[in-house]
Amino acid sequence: MKKPVIGVLPLWDEEKDSIWMLPGYMEGIEAAGGIPVILSLSADEDALLYWAENLDGFLFTGGQDVDPVLYGEEKLPVCGELSPERDRIEIFLFKKILELNKPVFGICRGLQLINVALGGTLYQDIPSQMANSFVHEGTSAEDIAYHTVAIWEKSPLSDFAGKVCKVNSYHHQGIRDLAPELKIAGASEDGLVEAVYMPGRNVFAVQWHPELNFSTDGTSLAMFRYFIETSKTK
Ligand code: MN
Repeated sequence: MKKPVIGVLPLWDEEKDSIWMLPGYMEGIEAAGGIPVILSLSADEDALLYWAENLDGFLFTGGQDVDPVLYGEEKLPVCGELSPERDRIEIFLFKKILELNKPVFGICRGLQLINVALGGTLYQDIPSQMANSFVHEGTSAEDIAYHTVAIWEKSPLSDFAGKVCKVNSYHHQGIRDLAPELKIAGASEDGLVEAVYMPGRNVFAVQWHPELNFSTDGTSLAMFRYFIETSKTK
């Protein structure tokens, strides 16, 4: 069987005015048997349509905050840096991918973007907007600011993550109102939605960072494997 080719949404460095990539996203796909390719942020509609039609799966990566305008709010001072070009490309591409019913794996910002693209809203800043939340922002993404996530029964995660899994946490935003078409796959003890999926579609996303520990964490590797399996075409 052919290895699935996965389009990876690039990260954006505002200071350097440049796209960039964390190796973990690419290596996680490779470890799970896929072929990753980094996409472009300057793509026109023809390129976006070409990718949607010709690639086998899509990884929506971490990064800047999604522009609150996209979920009907003004940007508050607590909201972080934005990347409007990523918002534009990713929402267009996500909608095309949905039309074609191809697999999507969202990580961190990826989960937030998917929720917004489907009509959900976000906390612009968890510490100042979500009552009784605990600290979700480690000092680095590899940080031991670990917390647990309870896994919902019958969600894709329940096949390989058991009932509870331990995750890293490096985010100050999160899902406030879940988009109508999404279902919860897992939540942390303070009630924050940490994993979602779209029933009947191969759309799955987590708020934590499996790309940073898939080489030592079985659940993280299993998530990449699940994504690559669903991206295989007959
Ligand atoms: Mn968290």
